[in-house]
Amino acid sequence: MAKIVGGCLCGSVRYESEAEVVLTTVCHCRNCQKQTSSAFSVLVVLPKGNLRIEGPALASVETVGEDTGLPVTRRFCPECGSGITSEVTATPDLEWLKAGTLDDPSWLRPQMHMWTSSAQPWVNIDDAIPTYERNPPLGG
Ligand SMILES: [Zn+2]
Ligand SMILES: [Zn+2]
Repeated sequence: MAKIVGGCLCGSVRYESEAEVVLTTVCHCRNCQKQTSSAFSVLVVLPKGNLRIEGPALASVETVGEDTGLPVTRRFCPECGSGITSEVTATPDLEWLKAGTLDDPSWLRPQMHMWTSSAQPWVNIDDAIPTYERNPPLGG
């Protein structure tokens, strides 16, 4: 039962994984806001190397983590621009999947909010789950 199945808006890029999800999180950092042109990213974090991606080679842009100063490579569909994954140098064992691209995101419940220091003021943040003003401690 693979619940990690999805793809980009135009359908060129498809992915799947049977890996156990490490974490689900919402990231309110400014870079996620810009990349998604929205208020936050919803992310499914997987162990690195467990995601099969099909379709054209993903385009990418390298940004710098606001706290760590380390590179973050954000990969997206070259046809439609949907964000698919991020490689975060500070967390080399993890793959950060943009959960808005899941075919069925209905199972997903965020387990934390991160970078709430730059959350949009109108976003209601569920205080029943952990919140971090900046990066959470991920052992990375
Ligand atoms: Zn696409
Ligand atoms: Zn972010």
